[in-house]
Formats: sequence, structure tokens, C-alpha cells
Amino acid sequence: MVSARLRPFGTTIFAEMTRLAIEHKAVNLSQGFPDFDGPAFVRDAAGAAIASGKNQYARPYGEVPLVEAIADWHERGTGLRVDPLAEVTVTSGCTEAIAACMLGLIDPGDEVVLLEPYYDCYRACVAMAGGVAKFVPLRTPTEAGGVFTLDRAELRASFGPRTKAVLLNTPHNPTGKVLTREELGWIGECAIEHDAIVISDEVYEKLVFEADHPHVSIATLPGMRERTIVCSSIGKTFSLTGWKVGWAIAPERLTAGVRAAHQFLTFATATPLQHGAAEALRRADEYVPGLVAELRESRDMLAEALASLGFGVTRPEGAYFIMVDHSAFGDGDDVAFCKRLIERAGVAAIPPSAFYNEKSLGRSLVRFAFCKKRATLEEAVRRLRAGLNGSAVR
Ligand code: GLN
Repeated sequence: MVSARLRPFGTTIFAEMTRLAIEHKAVNLSQGFPDFDGPAFVRDAAGAAIASGKNQYARPYGEVPLVEAIADWHERGTGLRVDPLAEVTVTSGCTEAIAACMLGLIDPGDEVVLLEPYYDCYRACVAMAGGVAKFVPLRTPTEAGGVFTLDRAELRASFGPRTKAVLLNTPHNPTGKVLTREELGWIGECAIEHDAIVISDEVYEKLVFEADHPHVSIATLPGMRERTIVCSSIGKTFSLTGWKVGWAIAPERLTAGVRAAHQFLTFATATPLQHGAAEALRRADEYVPGLVAELRESRDMLAEALASLGFGVTRPEGAYFIMVDHSAFGDGDDVAFCKRLIERAGVAAIPPSAFYNEKSLGRSLVRFAFCKKRATLEEAVRRLRAGLNGSAVR
């Protein structure tokens, strides 16, 4: 039995593909989680918190050392100073932050603009709040090695008198696009014109690969801070996706909505993990630059291998996914292609139509995660070569 609101969404593609990967003993480049561990100093800090008795309910809006560490982290990243006690809310992962934004700030019938492809929970969270999702496509690059593009006119057309919010994601999952300052300016200008709020999912904020194309938070643009909720987490930055420690940073007026929902969704987030997360943010420099360097190499290695196999490769500037075109293999849509990959090559990937309202835009694409050990990626490439070689029609 599933409510009418959630019935259209079925089981998440991530759970589904990981299940199939296990069943077929495939190399799993589908669900985005590292197959290596997060830093020992962070795990040790959480262990010490458990051992020292930090095991009862946390402060509902976040343990004080963590909200302070988040405010400092945000200031180092954006130059914006926020009040840790009044403007930061710790949530059980960024997914909960997004759900809390929707349930706490969106009324039935309000429109929420999403970049398409969108991370799957966005649309479900809009639906849970009774909102109406509107879509603005990121256009697939036509030249090899290109990046996805946002069209200003298409963006403007997705806003209207009922627009309450825009929910964006940069660096972007699944495309790896890092929105430019100019594109963020277009989004900001639409939000201001329609008096809409901006919910900015920045979980991949530190995972950017091009020195000349840094991550920019839309909160830093003129007039945007007062209407923006920045959501992030430690999951991707510290390779601890199972911890589910995230946050929402917003002015008090918007934090009120986030907290109104959060207190009844989870009430509070796991106490010892919050103390571990605080240590992670304080000592980020000991871990993050090394991770970024490794991910950059993994991206380059996988992109080159996929291109040599006959995929139409795009260039992720951030996050840890690569979206490529599989049409040279002539194997039908993305779902059929991924089925063939897993069964015949023993490699699991994500069929991206799960991230599209307009399914046809995702049909020729496939998403691979590269947040994996080099040996895992090499094994995946070996299997792809054996399973696909020679079948690309150029
Ligand atoms: N963010 C991860 C991905 O895109 C998946 C998270 C999940 O499984 N819910 O692959």
C-alpha cells in the first residue's frame, strides 16, 4: 500500500541498481558511494564521542560544536558569516534538509523549479509537500567532451506567478556540471523577480576539478543571501555517505520553516556522529585536497576509457559522476542498455531517465560513478572492453 503522492516514484533507482549489482556480482558504478573509507581521524572522533557518553538526543537543531564548525566552514567557503545557533540546522543528511525545506516552506499548489535532470528525491520531496514541479532542461552537449548547458530563455519560461522556490544543485548530480557565476545570476534574477526562495544543494561543493571553474554558492550573489537556503553534508566531502549528517543554512525567516519540519521528521540527528562531523569540518585540509586529486585522476582515466570504447563522453567539472551517450551501441533506451551492461559485461550503471520528467532526454545516456578505488575502475573498464568491444557503430 503506497499513498497516491508517492505511488508514481516506486523504488529509488539507486537501491534497485545496487541490488542488481549484488545479484549479478557486477562492478558497481551505479549508486554513488565510495568503496574506500572516510578519514580515520573522523571515525575516531565519533568513536570517542560514543565512548564518552554522547549518546542521548542531540540539540534538535544540531550540537553546538557542529553548528559552530559548519558556520566556520561556510565562512571559509563563501565569505559569508552566519549565526551558528540561529541560522544553521543539522539534519540527517542533505536529503532530510531538502525534505524539510519542502515540507516546511511549500504549500499545496506552489510551484518549485527543478533543473532537469534532477536528483530523484527532489521531485518526490516536492510531491510530498503537495507542490508542483516545473522543469528547466540542462541541454546535453553536442560535441565530445563538452559540458551540459543552461538556456536563459528556457530558465525564465519555467518561472511563473505560482513559483515559490527553485531547487538547484551545483556541482550537479548526475551531469557533473558546475554552474557558472553567470548562470547562477540568471537563476537569482528570476528568483528575485518572482520573489521565490532558492534551495541550493551543494553537497559536492568541494569536489571540483577545474582550477579556472570553482564552485560558487548562489548565496554569495547580490540580493541572494536573504532568500537562499544552502544545503550540504559531510557525506561526499569526507567519503562517509552512510553517516547521513547534513545541514541547512538560511536566514532566520527561512530557518523557521526548515526547523518546523525537521523537529517532526527526525527531531535530531545521531549525536556521536555530529561530534565526528565537527572534527571532519575542522580538519578538512588533512583529507579533502587528496580526495579531490584522486577523483580528478579517476575522472580522467574513466572518461578516456569510455571514449575509447565508443561512448559519447561529456566532461564533469565536479561531483563524482560522468554522463555519457551510449547510442553508438544501438541497444535501445537507457534502461535496456544498463540491463545489458549488468548482465553481459558485469558492470552496473544508472539509467538516467529516472532523473528526467521528459524521459526522451535521458534515453541515450548512462551515468557511471567514479568515486571508486583505482582497481575497481580498472576492473570495470576491463569488463566493459570484453563485454562491449567491437559493438560500437561509429
Ligand atoms: N547520491 C547517490 C547517487 O547519486 C545516491 C544516494 C542514494 O542512494 N540515495 O548515486
